[in-house]
Amino acid sequence: PLILGIESTCDETGVALVRGRELLGDVTATSMDEYARFGGIIPEIASRAHLEAFVPTLDAALERAGVGLEEIDAIAVCAGPGLIGSLTVGISAAKALAASLGRPIYGVNHVIGHLAVDELVDGPLPDRFIGLIVSGGHSSILSIRDIATDVVELGGTLDDAAGEAFDKVGRLLGLPYPGGPHVDRCSQAGDREAIRFPRGLAAAKDRERHRYDFSFSGLKTAVARYVESLGDGGREVPVDDICAAFSEAVNDSLTAKAVAACLDTGCDTLVIGGGFSANSRLRELAAERCQAAGITLRIPPLRYCTDNGAQIAALGAAAARAGVEPSPLDFAPDSAMPLDTVIAR
Ligand code: ATP
Ligand code: FE
Ligand code: MG
Repeated sequence: PLILGIESTCDETGVALVRGRELLGDVTATSMDEYARFGGIIPEIASRAHLEAFVPTLDAALERAGVGLEEIDAIAVCAGPGLIGSLTVGISAAKALAASLGRPIYGVNHVIGHLAVDELVDGPLPDRFIGLIVSGGHSSILSIRDIATDVVELGGTLDDAAGEAFDKVGRLLGLPYPGGPHVDRCSQAGDREAIRFPRGLAAAKDRERHRYDFSFSGLKTAVARYVESLGDGGREVPVDDICAAFSEAVNDSLTAKAVAACLDTGCDTLVIGGGFSANSRLRELAAERCQAAGITLRIPPLRYCTDNGAQIAALGAAAARAGVEPSPLDFAPDSAMPLDTVIAR
């Protein structure tokens, strides 16, 4: 079946067409440039931008895929988690299309879509695998038997998400918004052993209870303290080394725990997804550690790591393939949609 996917959780308006596991076309518009001067997303502006971008983005995606609206068999749209205003615009548009075309609609979980998109690039997902979701809002380890029907969260962050921690450290170091990619770039020029920052939840009492959990806010505070201590002495701030050492601490935790989850559950495949999976050190360290443990690592290419319509269409296609009942036409956006809810009811 031909699936139309619509993404609108945050600042990206994404539309994509997928047939089976083949991506026919996808187009993304973003309002990110509007937020540089505010240092963060303004939900009102994001909602309005979705409203303006939706029809042109839909038209461009249909043209790129070479298909007409009437050929679509089902519509998938992000049901959450995300900004309520942004979600509402995408869901309203999707429901209008579903009602006028007389096609089923799947309200899908945006975050699970970050893993589903990998099918379009690397082929069918195995029967069982571990998923590591790393993004601006999430850092979670998932046990997955079927991406559309059986997702269990083994653990997640107790405070900041990985991308969020990078953005905060970027701000602290005076780097442009959003800080994640800038901290990554600086870290590549730095010495990751120059400073030893703490790994979250490393204390003995936390180690078993929080085996698959993360904590990055203490690390962020350690970076702030370190920068302050330099200021007191009037010393120069070694931005590249701080970024490298900070990045190492985050990625050491993420990869060690994801690999442990694979070994504990006997899964031989790790799939990493979400905006933070663009991080260069994460990719390196995950590749090294998975190879050493005999685990197959799958990470989508960079352009499918950040928010896009293909992730939504891919998950919609997986739901259709699994025979999942479509969502009711009156399903509501869920700004805090839990990770084990894949399809909105
Ligand atoms: P969620 O998917 O949990 O709803 P989100 O959609 O806001 O959250 P994404 O768009 O998936 O998050 O990812 C954006 C985050 O990824 C931002 O925090 C950004 O700074 C971070 N990021 C992007 N590229 C990199 C990179 N190379 N290194 C580190 N962080 C990065
Ligand atoms: Fe996302
Ligand atoms: Mg985003």
